[in-house]
Amino acid sequence: MLRRGGLWAGLLVLLVVMGFNWPLARAQQFPMAGDLLAGRVIIIDPGHGGYDPGAHGIQATEDRVNLEVALVLKQWFERAGARVVMTRMTPRDVPKHKKYRVRARMVWINHSRGDVLIDIHCNSGAKSFHGPQTFYWDGAASYHLAYDVQEELQYFTHTRRTVTRIDQYVLRHAEMPAINVEIGFITNAKEEAKLLNPEYQRDLTWYIFVGTERWFLKGRWPENLLQTPPPTHLLIRD
Ligand SMILES: [Zn+2]
Repeated sequence: MLRRGGLWAGLLVLLVVMGFNWPLARAQQFPMAGDLLAGRVIIIDPGHGGYDPGAHGIQATEDRVNLEVALVLKQWFERAGARVVMTRMTPRDVPKHKKYRVRARMVWINHSRGDVLIDIHCNSGAKSFHGPQTFYWDGAASYHLAYDVQEELQYFTHTRRTVTRIDQYVLRHAEMPAINVEIGFITNAKEEAKLLNPEYQRDLTWYIFVGTERWFLKGRWPENLLQTPPPTHLLIRD
């Protein structure tokens, strides 16, 4: 009985040791994944909320889609070691009868001392319009951030939409590099269905994350990475 108990205890210890070693081994194999965004603060602002639903699709309103996608994006950054600050986490954070107080939110965003601000919105337009597009307002940092993210989104969706400058309150008042990712057209039934699909949300946010990570790491690649190809699971190209 004792021997058998010892065996189980040994197996348990082995599993615990393996469990503890696994993330370390992974971090050594893929140094980009585990630690390079450590200490970075990413502010994610899912657009609209409260009594401002944003644009209307057939199945959903924009505030809901923005929040769902933003919550998935948050997970990628957290896996890479960043700290994520969300302007809202649930639909109830901004009660339905309350206004989306963009000015108050902006003051709060600027006090959060984030390294970047990523606004998430859905686009709207003619029924045939589709594809994600990244916007910025001013400054080289915001432009390059928008460019890197849009390049990843072009790769993922084959959209021909390009980075565009836009005068938006949030982008204009942000005191850190800031972009607005219009993740797709909620007014296009096909694209709306995709935006509501958890697998598509996972892939789409992956490319927004990779674009942002590329912007962060530019020129600051660890020396041991310079001679080695990029981790294939992070930068898959065919
Ligand atoms: Zn919007």
